[in-house]
Amino acid sequence: MTQEKPKIVFYWCASCGGCEEAVVDLAEGILDVVAAVDIVFWPVALDFKRRDVEQMPDGSILATFLNGAVRTSEQEEMAELLRRKSKLLVAFGSCSHLGGIPGLANLFTRESILQAVYFDAPTTENPNRVMPGSRQSKGGPALPYFSNQVRRLDEVVEVDYYVPGCPPLPKIISQAVMKLLDGQLPEKGSVLAPEEGLCTECPRKDSKPEKIALKAFRRPQDILIDETQCLLAQGLLCMGPATRAGCEAACIKGNMPCSGCCGAPGRVRDQGAKALSAIASLVDSKDEHEIDQILASIADPVGTFCRYSLPASLLQNRRNI
Ligand code: SF4
Ligand code: SF4
Repeated sequence: MTQEKPKIVFYWCASCGGCEEAVVDLAEGILDVVAAVDIVFWPVALDFKRRDVEQMPDGSILATFLNGAVRTSEQEEMAELLRRKSKLLVAFGSCSHLGGIPGLANLFTRESILQAVYFDAPTTENPNRVMPGSRQSKGGPALPYFSNQVRRLDEVVEVDYYVPGCPPLPKIISQAVMKLLDGQLPEKGSVLAPEEGLCTECPRKDSKPEKIALKAFRRPQDILIDETQCLLAQGLLCMGPATRAGCEAACIKGNMPCSGCCGAPGRVRDQGAKALSAIASLVDSKDEHEIDQILASIADPVGTFCRYSLPASLLQNRRNI
């Protein structure tokens, strides 16, 4: 009799689809995964329905890899259902881990988002001013409730492990899956990637000066970037000092600054605060007016320092920042 393979699930909530693409990007590596497990629910690729999951015994899935943040009532229900059915729940990708790019919506109220999308967007034509859910009261179909805030997965259900990245790189995914299958798991609650900061594995680390002093911050499109030198030393806002290693500096190898998608290194509570303090220490002035001018050259500070981590940050949903 053949032995039953462990069951795993890939599911998405408030997600762009990039994390699903990352699983497909395992290329031939996905064959190793498929050979070792039964994928019993993966809406983006396989035609199983929610009722199929509901009929599974509780705890019968070895692991669910859930990407995307949680914004709607349906996403919350699915997170709870998959938590119940799974021995291990893995927050997969920045959105699930930290809130991610969708988490920046917490800078705006629910009402202003609906107003912008359903009434004000230049491409929206809505003469009858129809809003989602408006047919519910007449007994018709209704969309899931759009809640007040974007939440990380672990704000909704208990999470066992985190796979970082936007999206996670194939090597990090394969290692995480194999760790789960081998039962070689670190402490519950761990991020399945190195604890150190990205600068430790950056190919440009030897060019990073001991002390950097900047009179202005630049954006990649503003300068001709030297492909050999530390990007921060060139005035570009590289989040490497405040970001967990593991991606092997993929963006920097593409001559782009790190944008911070793997979240904070171990022992750092708040990635945005760490980045802010690291960057502030580079300002080369003691004059208050000049300091203001230098800091003003940072376009979109919240979107830069907390791009992936606003719902996990100390700022959370504070709007007047
Ligand atoms: S982590 Fe990045 S790739 Fe994955 S769903 Fe979120 S935005 Fe998309
Ligand atoms: S600041 Fe950025 S470019 Fe410089 S060493 Fe760190 S990760 Fe590399």
